[in-house]
Amino acid sequence: MGYLTGIEWCDHTWNPWRGCAHAARHRDGTGEAPECLNCYAEDGSRRNAANLGEWGPGSARAVGVPAYWDLPRKWDRKAEADGVRRRVFFASYADVFEDRADLVPHRRRAFDIIDECPNLDFLVLTKRPEMVGTLWPWGRETRRENVWLGTTCGHPDSLWRVDALLSVRHLAALAFVSAEPLLAPLDFGGRLGGIRWVIAGGESRLRGEPRPCDPEWIRGVAMQCELAGTALFVKQLGGNPVGLSLSHPKGGDMEEWPEDLRIRELPAVAAAGVA
Ligand code: SF4
Repeated sequence: MGYLTGIEWCDHTWNPWRGCAHAARHRDGTGEAPECLNCYAEDGSRRNAANLGEWGPGSARAVGVPAYWDLPRKWDRKAEADGVRRRVFFASYADVFEDRADLVPHRRRAFDIIDECPNLDFLVLTKRPEMVGTLWPWGRETRRENVWLGTTCGHPDSLWRVDALLSVRHLAALAFVSAEPLLAPLDFGGRLGGIRWVIAGGESRLRGEPRPCDPEWIRGVAMQCELAGTALFVKQLGGNPVGLSLSHPKGGDMEEWPEDLRIRELPAVAAAGVA
């Protein structure tokens, strides 16, 4: 939540509000998303709910102080001075497209700040892609070149989210998928044709046993990415990698990985935007 981030695929994280509720498993709103079950942010927030937010549909969201909201402007000036585009993960302690009346003005304000920061790419990763068309603050046909729009699909039951993302991909510079936590073998069935980037990884937890991730499942994702020409970033093998004994608690040390899994690609980005 500070200036820099421990997340390997971005330069900064930005959480202007914090707190969330588990997303739905199915498109009709029923069930609970398997990727939300051991939500890392929810675990983390238990240490400091006043600052990091509360979880559940009825609980309050914690809104950042004005200086925190201003951080992207500072990062943007630095990126401009350095001549380097930087990636901002918005948001790791919330879901930007959670549908709550109290979030409408915060989302509007956040997206106004995105417009003020042309040297940053904002990575908006949501488990509610079906809400993007309705809640997109600029209007459902207005594209933003400095937004990368992503959704999570770590289980076959979540493939509908990729379809929902593909239906709104015209709104952002590119569409990406986070297959983390990867909980089962995934067959994207041709959907990767419209996806520029996939992040894959096994589950990690602050406390409790992570669910297993078989490196073969990651290999399966890698093969599909290669065939589709989609960039792949393997973030971690997780805290419970099947058949491997790793010393890193999240399986995040690439030196310990089988060589063929050491893949950390980014989508091609030109200086003035996305190639
Ligand atoms: S949508 Fe993300 S932040 Fe919200 S409960 Fe699920 S995993 Fe946690």
